[in-house]
Amino acid sequence: MVLDNGNVKLAFLGGGREVGRSAVWVRGEKASILLDYGVRVGDPEPLFPLHVPPKELDAIVLSHAHLDHSGALPLLYVSYPRPLYMTSLSAKMLDFLLKDFMNLSKYYIPYEQTDVNRMFRHMRAVKPGSKVKVGNVKLTFADAGHIPGGLQVLVEVDGKRILYTGDINTIDTRLLKGAKPFNEELDVLVVEATYAGVDHPDREELEKEFVESVVEVVEDGVVVLVPAFSVGRAQEILCVLTAYSFNHTIYLDGMARAISQVFLDHPRFFRDYGLLKKALEKAIWINGKGDRKRACRKPGVIIAPAGMLKGGPAVQYLKRMAEDERNAVFLVSYQIPGTPGHILLNTGKFPFNNELKPIKASIKWFDFSSHVGDRQLWEVLKAVKGNPRVFVIHGEDQACTMLAERVSLELGLEAMAPRNGEVFKV
Ligand SMILES: [Zn+2]
Repeated sequence: MVLDNGNVKLAFLGGGREVGRSAVWVRGEKASILLDYGVRVGDPEPLFPLHVPPKELDAIVLSHAHLDHSGALPLLYVSYPRPLYMTSLSAKMLDFLLKDFMNLSKYYIPYEQTDVNRMFRHMRAVKPGSKVKVGNVKLTFADAGHIPGGLQVLVEVDGKRILYTGDINTIDTRLLKGAKPFNEELDVLVVEATYAGVDHPDREELEKEFVESVVEVVEDGVVVLVPAFSVGRAQEILCVLTAYSFNHTIYLDGMARAISQVFLDHPRFFRDYGLLKKALEKAIWINGKGDRKRACRKPGVIIAPAGMLKGGPAVQYLKRMAEDERNAVFLVSYQIPGTPGHILLNTGKFPFNNELKPIKASIKWFDFSSHVGDRQLWEVLKAVKGNPRVFVIHGEDQACTMLAERVSLELGLEAMAPRNGEVFKV
C-alpha cells in the first residue's frame, strides 16, 4: 500500500475486524509512523499485514511484544531500516518470542535471524512517560497494563492528536498496575475491542477461587498442571499463589524460565517487584527430563507453556498425568477455537500426534485476562476527552462493529470498525 502526503491519514494494514496482525499506519504531511506490525498465528499458516514500503516510514513503534503486534516487524528490516521504538523489556521478550516463532513454524517465514538482528540494532528504548520527536511528529508513551513492557502511544502530527491504545488492561493484576486514562484531548482514538460485549469476573474473586481449587487438588496428594503463556501469565499465576501464601511445591518450566529472568532484570515495570522476586525464588525452575519426571510424581503445581497447549513442556506433562483422574489441568488464558487447549476444554480429549485421546484428569478454565473487559472498556471510552473519531480494531468482526455502533449511539462520537486496507483522512 502507498499513501500520498497531504492531510493526516490513517491506514489499517491489519487487525481490522480480527484479532491478529495489528498494524496501523499514520501518515502526516512530512512524516509517517507505523504502529505495530504483527502476524496472525495459525489459520493454519501465519498471515501477515498488508505491505508497507519501509522507505515510506520515518519510524516504527511497537506497543508490546506479543507476536500479533510484533511478528512481522523483521520484514521491514530486510531492506531499509528505520528507528524502532519500544521498551527495553519488550525488546528482550521479543527476542525470545521471534526465535520461538521461527523455530516452531511449520510454514515459511519471509525473514531470517539476520533481519531480526538488524532490527534490534535500530531499536531505541523508551519508557512509559517518555516523549520522542520524529521530524514534526511527537510521540508520547504511557503504560498499557496489558503485559510487562507494554505501551500506549499518543501520536501528535500536523495538529492532530491520535491515541493508539494497543492492547490495554485498566485493572490492577498481581503483576501489573492497570493503565490510567489519558488526560489529553484527542482527535482520534484507535482502541482495542478483544472483549467488547464480554465481562471478566472480579479479579480478586477469581484469584481466591483459583487458589482454593489448586489447594484442594494438591492436598489430595496429586498434581495441578497450569498451561500458561511465558510472557506474563505464568509469572502472574506464581504471584497469585505467593500472595495467598500457598505453601506447596511450585514448578516453573519452558520459556517462562528465561522470560522470568528477564523480568527480574527489569524491576521498574512491575506493580510489586518484591512479590515477583519472592514468587520466582519460591518456584523450582525445572532443569531437564529428570526434573520433569519427578515433578509429576509429587503433589504440587506445574506452570508451563504453551498457554493453549499448542506444544511446549505443558503437553509433555499432560501426557504423563492424563491417566489419573485426581490430577487437574487448570487453563488460565483464553483458548482460541481450534487450538488443542480449546478442544481439551470442550471435549475432555486431547489431540496427541493428531489422535484424540480422553483425558481422565479434571479440566477447568479460569478467566485471567490481560485485556479490558466490556465494563472497563466502556469506562475508558467514556473518560476520553475531546470529540475524537473512534476506530475500533483488534476484535472479532461482531465485537468491533457492535462497539463502534454503541460509541456512536451512546457517546455521540463518530465511530467505525475499519477493515484491513481501509484509509481514512483525519
Ligand atoms: Zn497483546
